[in-house]
Amino acid sequence: MIVGVPTEIKPDEYRVALLPVGAEELTRHGHRVLIQTGAGIGSGIPDELYAENGAEIVATADEIFAQADLVIKVKEPLPAEWPKLRAGQILLTYFHFAANEELTRAVLSTGITAVAYETLRGAKGNLPCLTPMSEVAGRMSIQQGAKYLERPQEGRGILLGGVPGVPPADIVIFGGGVVGKNAAQIAAGFQADVSILDINVDRLRYLEDIMPANVNTLFSDRHTVREQLMKADLLIGAVLIEGARAPVLVKEEDLKLMKPGAVIIDVAVDQGGCVETARPTTHSDPTYIVNDVVHYCVANMPGAVGRTSTYALCNVTFPYALRIANHGLNAACTADPGLAHAVNMSAGKLTNRAVAETFGLAY
Ligand code: NAD
Repeated sequence: MIVGVPTEIKPDEYRVALLPVGAEELTRHGHRVLIQTGAGIGSGIPDELYAENGAEIVATADEIFAQADLVIKVKEPLPAEWPKLRAGQILLTYFHFAANEELTRAVLSTGITAVAYETLRGAKGNLPCLTPMSEVAGRMSIQQGAKYLERPQEGRGILLGGVPGVPPADIVIFGGGVVGKNAAQIAAGFQADVSILDINVDRLRYLEDIMPANVNTLFSDRHTVREQLMKADLLIGAVLIEGARAPVLVKEEDLKLMKPGAVIIDVAVDQGGCVETARPTTHSDPTYIVNDVVHYCVANMPGAVGRTSTYALCNVTFPYALRIANHGLNAACTADPGLAHAVNMSAGKLTNRAVAETFGLAY
C-alpha cells in the first residue's frame, strides 16, 4: 500500500500521525510511506529522521492525498482538505462525526472509508485511542492549574505544595476516570491536598487502594459538590457519561461559593463541560474570568504538548495502521471486531448507527 501522512492544518495542532519507527516498520513490510515536509516539526521530528527510516518526503498535501491508499492523520479533515479526499481511499484519524453534521455530509459525499480512532474498541470494550489523550490532559490539568493559581495569572497566589508552616492547595477533581486519576497522581506528587469525586463507588474503591494518603475519595452528590466548591483552590472537571453531554455539576450561581482567584480547569469542555460557565477556549487565549474565578477550558489540551502526545497517540494507533496496510481493511476488520467498530463510513455509506441517527441519515 501507499501510506500518506499530511501535515496537520488545524490551528494549535502540533501532533503528527506517524513516528519514524512507524515509517521504518511500514517500509520493512513493503509499503511506500509519503510524509509531507514539516509534518513532524511541531512534535520535534525533522524530515530527515523520516527519510532515514525509509519515508519519501513530499512537498504538498495534494501529493499525499492524490497517491495514498491509506491516509493517517490526527484531526478530522478540515474544509480545505475535503476536495482532496478520493473515493476508495481509507482515512484513519479522529473524526468525531456526531458533533459535526457538515463534516459528516462532506466526508460521506467523497466516497472514502472513514476509520475513526474515537470509536475503535479494545478487547475489553474500552476505547484505546482515547485513553492516551485523557492521560495527557489529566496530567497537564495540574500543570496548567499550578500556573493559573499564580497571582500574575490572576489566581489566588497559592503554591500547590505549600511550604513548611503554610498549608498546600486544595485540589478537587470531579470524575475519577482516566483524566481524574492522572490529575490526582500528579497533584499528589506536588503534595497538594486532593479530593476525587465520582458516582461510581467501585471506581472510588480502586482509587482509594492505589492513591497516596494525601488523596481522598468522595461520593459525588449535590451536597458534597457544593461543600468542595467552598474549599477548592483548584477544581478539575473530568466527568464523562459515554455518548452524552457532560453533566453540569457547577451552576453559574455556585461560583459564588468559590474563593476569589480560585481556578477551574474544565477538561470535560469538549463534551460541553461540567461547569455551566465553561466555554471552549484555545491555547493562544486559554482563560477568562467569571465571578472572580479563573476558567481554563481548552478543548484540545494535548495539542500543546505535541511531542508527548504524538508519541502517546502513535503508540496505540500504529499497530492498527500496520494491520490495515498489511492485510487490507476488510481482512483486518474480520480479525478484529473492535477495528470494524471504528469504520464509520465505507465507500460513501454510513456504517455507524449513532452518527446516522444523530443526523437522520441512511444507515
Ligand atoms: P472516563 O470515562 O475515564 O471518566 C469519567 C468519570 O466521570 C467516570 O469515572 C464516571 O463515573 C465519572 N462521572 C460521571 N458522572 C459523574 C458525576 N456526576 N460526578 C462525578 N463523577 C462522574 O473519561 P475520561 O477519559 O477521564 O474523560 C473525561 C473528560 O475529559 C471527557 O469529556 C473527555 O472527552 C475529556 N477530555 C478532554 C480533553 C481536552 O483536551 N480538553 C482531552 C482528553 C479528554
